[in-house]
Amino acid sequence: MRLQRHPLLQSTPGTQQELVSLHYGTPGRGLKASIQASLHADEVPATLVAQHLRQLLADLEDAGRIRGEIVLVPAANPIGLHQWMLHGMQGRFDLRSGENFNRHYADLADAVAAQVQPLLGADMAANVATVRTALRQAVAATPSTNSLAHLRQILLGLAIDADIVLDLHCDGEALLHFYTAESLWPEAQLLGRCLGAELALLADASGDNPFDEACSMVWAKLAGRFGPTKPLPMACLAATIELRGEADVRHDLASRDAQAIVHYLAERGLIEGAVPQLPPSTCEGLPLSGSIPLVAPHGGVLVFVRDTGERLRSGDHIADLIDPFSGQRTAITSPVDGLFFARENRRFAVAGMSLGKVVGRTPLRQGKLLSA
Ligand SMILES: [Zn+2]
Repeated sequence: MRLQRHPLLQSTPGTQQELVSLHYGTPGRGLKASIQASLHADEVPATLVAQHLRQLLADLEDAGRIRGEIVLVPAANPIGLHQWMLHGMQGRFDLRSGENFNRHYADLADAVAAQVQPLLGADMAANVATVRTALRQAVAATPSTNSLAHLRQILLGLAIDADIVLDLHCDGEALLHFYTAESLWPEAQLLGRCLGAELALLADASGDNPFDEACSMVWAKLAGRFGPTKPLPMACLAATIELRGEADVRHDLASRDAQAIVHYLAERGLIEGAVPQLPPSTCEGLPLSGSIPLVAPHGGVLVFVRDTGERLRSGDHIADLIDPFSGQRTAITSPVDGLFFARENRRFAVAGMSLGKVVGRTPLRQGKLLSA
């Protein structure tokens, strides 16, 4: 294993931070996978899964079983880890700019299209190699004027030329689920099966360019520009995996999830040796535009009467919202027929807050599809 340190550009003198990446296997001798944990720094289940992965990958490397390259970023957000305010970690938004740490990754399609256009031909594998070289150069050339931009540049640089990108997160309270591009769903079903996920939320453009889409959708954009005479595949399977809820920090779950990820890497040929039998598929791919937030009509105490994982009919009672001043009690009901897959982990709401999400089969929303 090769440990690489990436000092972040200092936004303020005397505040040096660094990112650490762990590199297993041999670059160029097979596929490349890039896995990062807790880009939202306070989503700790992902950090623990990365620690279990670290041990598994070290053992596999000692046994000579890693083919290709696996990059693991065990704590992807040193800026967020440092943002403690009133006794709580603020790991989702950069406190200086207000920006979500998992948005605004560079869309590199324009930057590389002109450069690769004269170099592409009929050989798809050669085209992939040409585009990857150009993508690496484009990331390196991205201007970074502050530590947040520099962090994004470093993370994208570790993943942009990978065949597999897994971005590990969690929700408030949730089932294990993941986000990926709709155009990747046929290939991503294997990931869902290995993870034992019940749900994949599918969108090709969820808004504001999250990390996984920056890595995967650049291939669709370039393929669309060049057409069949210069063929390009979806060369990167990228997914944002939500490892249940914030409080699900348990060794048994983390061990299981790390093994599931290793199982997926083995299925994709990055790990040699016997591969366990695949569990039956339980994963349903549904449109992200069919995921409907439950919005609090007023503030108050939030009392759930349904658990995540329940399948609901439109109008089913999910929660009560109680105004402690007036005593008004409002029933929060399911907006659609669907799966109640995620809910808020705080129990006092303010007006307008999202209290949870139910996903159905019908695409109902447009525009930016992710929460803040
Ligand atoms: Zn997250």
